[in-house]
Amino acid sequence: MKFLALLALLFISASAEKSRFDNYRVYSVTVENYQQLQAIQYLEEHSDAYNIFESPHLNADTEILVPPHKFSDFEELTENLGMKAKLIINNYQELIDEEIKPSRTPRVDAQYDWVSYKNLTEIYAWLDEMAAQYSSVASVRNIGTTHEGRPIRLFTISKKSGNRGIFVEANIHAREWISSATATYLINELLTSQDPDIVDIATNIDWYIITNVNPDGLVWTWESNRNWRKTRAPVSALCFGVDVNRNFAYNWLTPDETGNLGASTTPCTDTYAGTSPLSENEAKAVESVFANNIGKFDVFLSFHSYGHYMLHPWGHTRGHSVDYDLQFAVGNAFRAAVQAVNGINYAVGPSNTVLYATSGTTPDHAYGQYGIKLSYTIEMRGNGNYGNYGFVLPPEFILPNAEEVVAGLIGLVNSARTYGYLRN
Ligand SMILES: [Zn+2]
Repeated sequence: MKFLALLALLFISASAEKSRFDNYRVYSVTVENYQQLQAIQYLEEHSDAYNIFESPHLNADTEILVPPHKFSDFEELTENLGMKAKLIINNYQELIDEEIKPSRTPRVDAQYDWVSYKNLTEIYAWLDEMAAQYSSVASVRNIGTTHEGRPIRLFTISKKSGNRGIFVEANIHAREWISSATATYLINELLTSQDPDIVDIATNIDWYIITNVNPDGLVWTWESNRNWRKTRAPVSALCFGVDVNRNFAYNWLTPDETGNLGASTTPCTDTYAGTSPLSENEAKAVESVFANNIGKFDVFLSFHSYGHYMLHPWGHTRGHSVDYDLQFAVGNAFRAAVQAVNGINYAVGPSNTVLYATSGTTPDHAYGQYGIKLSYTIEMRGNGNYGNYGFVLPPEFILPNAEEVVAGLIGLVNSARTYGYLRN
């Protein structure tokens, strides 16, 4: 009893306190052999101190957040393993403080913008305003409720009947703020732009957009821990959160040919897949959009950060999908159109082989379960010739990122049309 009371107290104090990352460093390590891979995977599963930003894989770089009390351990570890480690962020807290500075300045007008990041309340209020202002073509509705009682909302735009559809989900991973900022920018463009290319895709395609699949997670990143990825549902005596992007039904927790699960069965890890397929309210909400609109969507897009990737199925297997050529060609049109704007070069290809093994993701589910061939994960800006920021992309990059992604979508639509998709 006493222990439980103490535990409850611990949780109360933990939720009141904002996590700080003063002098935490981010290192980029290059995983070159199996021994190094195993060591990083071990840290990912077992260490509370380190945070591995994305799952490590062979012959690629992985970013790791290292607290000050682990600096010497980490140095020893990389030395013993003969692993190259490059310091890319010297003080993670400094980056976090810089990120929200513009939104701390009192605003003279109440105009929504893309020069600062918006919190969930601001995003939801703006969605309401846009739906009211453009009520003849746009609407917003609740499609589910999170563990903490927040609505999950679907914004739709339809300017004429008979259109084929594109379904977009964003911010399924809480710390990837740029993903929902880009989704709101897309909505704004579709409703207000006079650019003929945007008028075309806004008029001749129906858009279904969930700007925030994971509202509880987003609120947690604003109020408690900027580095949080999952939901906030309790999953064990000590841990919270399911990775919704590992919770979808198609080949849930299915290992690939190398035995890689592409998700975790350990509740405390960042890629915890949940207790069963579609166990989480957030996944159920997204599922309801697929299930209620069978045959509607030619394209499904999942907005993430970071790394400049345009990923198509599969994640759960190293084998090529039967629609590989089509998926690559349309993905490549997105890549070319993005690059034409600011020179950012995305890598295109199947999730599993271009990035790493994943199972239970929304794009695999959209394609495998619902037959949406043009299903993609878009990993936006984070590190590049504009700087190394990871998930904490400074607000001055919201606009360039959003502009190049929207240009990419125009390229994607035009390419899809040449193959007979998105035509009424
Ligand atoms: Zn993500």
